[in-house]
Amino acid sequence: MSEAPTTTAAATVLSVVIPMYNEEEVLPALVNRLRPVLAGLGVPYEVVAVDDGSTDRTAALLDAFRLGWPELRVIGLRRNSGHQAALTAGLDRAVGAYVVSIDADLQDPPEKIPDMLVLARADHLDIVYGIRADRASDTGFKRWTAGLYYRLVRRLAGPSVPAQAGDFRLLSRAAVDALKALPDQQRVYRLLVPWLGFPSGEVTYERAPRPAGQSKYPLGRMIRLAVDSVTGFSAAPLRIATWLGGVAFLVCLGLMVYTLSAHAFQHTVPGWTSLFIGVLFIGAVQLVCVGLLGEYVGRIYTAVQNRPTYFVGHDTAATSGTATATA
Ligand code: UDP
Ligand code: MG
Repeated sequence: MSEAPTTTAAATVLSVVIPMYNEEEVLPALVNRLRPVLAGLGVPYEVVAVDDGSTDRTAALLDAFRLGWPELRVIGLRRNSGHQAALTAGLDRAVGAYVVSIDADLQDPPEKIPDMLVLARADHLDIVYGIRADRASDTGFKRWTAGLYYRLVRRLAGPSVPAQAGDFRLLSRAAVDALKALPDQQRVYRLLVPWLGFPSGEVTYERAPRPAGQSKYPLGRMIRLAVDSVTGFSAAPLRIATWLGGVAFLVCLGLMVYTLSAHAFQHTVPGWTSLFIGVLFIGAVQLVCVGLLGEYVGRIYTAVQNRPTYFVGHDTAATSGTATATA
């Protein structure tokens, strides 16, 4: 598949990145709603549709739409790689000064894109989050698991992670470049983006029900996202063994005292005391050792992650034309 960029990097103000997997049912409706909104902006834009290895007619439909819509660019992934990976492919290739990512299924309203752009430009923001004000259209189970998820990630990744912010957001070129420079493999953008520390704003919207097609996030994928979120931002689970080991060790000590006193003052079955103490001792030692291993694996993990430990917001020496060497 040949893919010549239809727009030049210098001119494009806005890129809209849309990961899609088997979305043939919503695609025409998406195009119908998105295109007038983007045309109404009056700035050069591109739409980067990432076909995440769809097995339905998504690719064929995209090709058809491309004929009459020069701003539409299609990136086809060879196989299904998942929502976040498809997003990465789109962000890596988008050329706009601002990049909006949006779901294909019209749960995020395209009509909010101009608001995001206006806010970012007026307040000089690098990130504008789409915040779901209302999830009434989601099932009770989805809302409950989402609530749990945001509580957990805010605890692990910090309060800068806005609750109820999905993957509908605007990023400036600087924010996109910062994301592209990260070495992370399994990316969870809703945690990585706040972690970059750029000035940010919010646009609230109501989460609409899916007009057609099925959610591509069944329970298994939701769990996968949660596990990636936790392990991507914290080695805390590895410490659980250390704590368990410590607690087990204390309990074992208590039980050992009890066993010995039982042996001294009562008639116990011969062999019970030594056997029980042996079992307790080995169990406690093993847990403590696993915990210790966990501590080291945690250090290896952060070393291998190799993320930058800081981002420079601005540097007067670099921005003032007469930069002088500093010691
Ligand atoms: N998606 C994708 N690859 C996948 C799964 C989903 O590109 O493997 C896209 C999907 O087409 C949609 C977005 O990611 O544009 C969000 O998926 P979905 O609407 O199924 O998730 P939900 O809204 O149910 O959380
Ligand atoms: Mg959806």
